[in-house]
Amino acid sequence: MRTLTVRPGVADSVALADIDAPPADGAVLVDGVCVGLCGTDSEIVAAKYGEAPPDADHLALGHENLGRVAQAPPGSGLATGDLVVGIVRRPDPVPCPACAAGEWDMCRNGRPTEHGIKGLHEFACERWRAEPDALVRLSPDLAEVGVLLEPTTIVSKAWEHVDRIGQRAFRAPEVVAVTGSAPDPNRQLVADLGATYQTESLPDSAIAADVTVECTGVPSVIVDAMTHSATDAAVCLTGVSSTGTAIPVDIGEFNRKMVLHNDVLFGLVNANRRHYEAAVAALSAADRSWLGRLITRRVPLSDFRDAFTRRPDDDKIVLELLEAQR
Ligand code: BGC
Repeated sequence: MRTLTVRPGVADSVALADIDAPPADGAVLVDGVCVGLCGTDSEIVAAKYGEAPPDADHLALGHENLGRVAQAPPGSGLATGDLVVGIVRRPDPVPCPACAAGEWDMCRNGRPTEHGIKGLHEFACERWRAEPDALVRLSPDLAEVGVLLEPTTIVSKAWEHVDRIGQRAFRAPEVVAVTGSAPDPNRQLVADLGATYQTESLPDSAIAADVTVECTGVPSVIVDAMTHSATDAAVCLTGVSSTGTAIPVDIGEFNRKMVLHNDVLFGLVNANRRHYEAAVAALSAADRSWLGRLITRRVPLSDFRDAFTRRPDDDKIVLELLEAQR
């Protein structure tokens, strides 16, 4: 079966390999439906991030995923044909207290593994395996947009943490700013949500947000998000940046604002099962046609190079694993 691999640390080593057995272990056998590509995949392909499993010199890529159960053991709660998403992060093999409590997204010792990213193969493969407790079931009507579940789990975790921070004191949030890349299709998508889309920087727009979710990982945007918010604000950083850019920041001014405004600045990575379940509820309640418009290109696995070449009107690009069936 075909699987998309890279050799971490070797730029542009992405290739299609033919393998005899699914790349990872697990009692449930899954037919891969598709994988979504994000900035993390591009960073791995560019050799700026990612780690192969300890016994391998390559990594089977793919973490935003969607599959259909091909075979499940009795008592697993899963049946052939179920639509499923594999959970990306697995608890640290040397469990820390957070992993032991099911909060592997808050792992304390920095040794968690992540499918398709860090130390574990996975989902950009025609067939893959997972343990039942590493799968989340989706209702069949989410087939077209279920690949958006994993990115939605990050949003679920962000909202959960923002809400918990908000409980510290009086709170009346009115303005939320989300900083992201700005491909053309986003303009209408944002407008259709009733939100305002803009290309100006936060300081130029004079927006003072009660909640900022920074999704670009771009150093200058991060500095703007850190230094331009309302009072009592929560600023959540979610983008994994490339390293090596130094930007001068007046730390005294930044500290003064943080202190005098009661601001909270926090980073956030990954998601646990609670966030996957919240994300399933969010996708189920959302307007399917709006969600579907987030996916601007579906590319067959064999054309993976084309999928990694971004076009101006690209939003979410999805690699189709079940070419023959579409
Ligand atoms: C993934 C997360 C992962 C993070 C860091 C993101 O692209 O969505 O699941 O934890 O990268 O590796």
